[in-house]
Amino acid sequence: MDYLLKVLGSGGSKTKTNATVSLQIADNMLIDAGNIFQKYEFDTNKIEHVFISHSHFDHILELPFLIENGFTTRTKQLHIYGLQDTIANIKKFMFNDYIWPDFSLIPLLTTGEKSIVFNEIEFGTTLYINDISITPIPANHIVPTAGFVIEKNDRAFALSSDTYLNNDFWKTINENRKIDTVLVEISFESALNGLAQISKHLTPQLLDRELEKLKRDDLEIYIYHVKESSIPAVTEELKNYSNLKKFDVKFLPEQL
Ligand SMILES: [Zn+2]
Ligand SMILES: [Zn+2]
Repeated sequence: MDYLLKVLGSGGSKTKTNATVSLQIADNMLIDAGNIFQKYEFDTNKIEHVFISHSHFDHILELPFLIENGFTTRTKQLHIYGLQDTIANIKKFMFNDYIWPDFSLIPLLTTGEKSIVFNEIEFGTTLYINDISITPIPANHIVPTAGFVIEKNDRAFALSSDTYLNNDFWKTINENRKIDTVLVEISFESALNGLAQISKHLTPQLLDRELEKLKRDDLEIYIYHVKESSIPAVTEELKNYSNLKKFDVKFLPEQL
């Protein structure tokens, strides 16, 4: 794997030009399912592992089609990973036979194995898949939410997931020197700090304050999950706050 991650979607909206979050960390492994089909470059039946940060719709919305498209020829089980609440919500509100069939009960036609396997993950418990280690870490959002530390090829990156102020996230980054790259959410411009507080998201001003918690300056920091209507103002604001300038904080590019 010659990439740290490929971005299938990194926005906070679903519009003609903004796609919700999905990150490819190996050819068969994704974090979040907001935008797979438009960008994934292989047959999606190759995808075996999807880590879901939390149950909000922008992060789960293509899961039904990920298992349904190509179902008759799929040979690999689809493993969906999430916190206990996340898995419970996906089962209860999505794969419940009302919104979409409960594929965890439907066998693959090719192998007879169950087509979806739900896997609960816990904060601080590392999973190892294809030479990649992935550790869920707490986020501060309106539903139970996992950020992640992902290590591969002696490098590591930290992903905040949807979050408001989060001391644990910056502590993890201070303590794990393998982490050289940070992906942190910003959803709105700072004029919407009130909305950010209610919905538990960040703005440039809040991130500028969060960066005071860092005890290192050797990091690449990228923002993602910006709502489409907030992109122009956030772009301007990245130039205006001292810590954002100091760390040269940028929008997440297509690949790292
Ligand atoms: Zn959310
Ligand atoms: Zn979101």
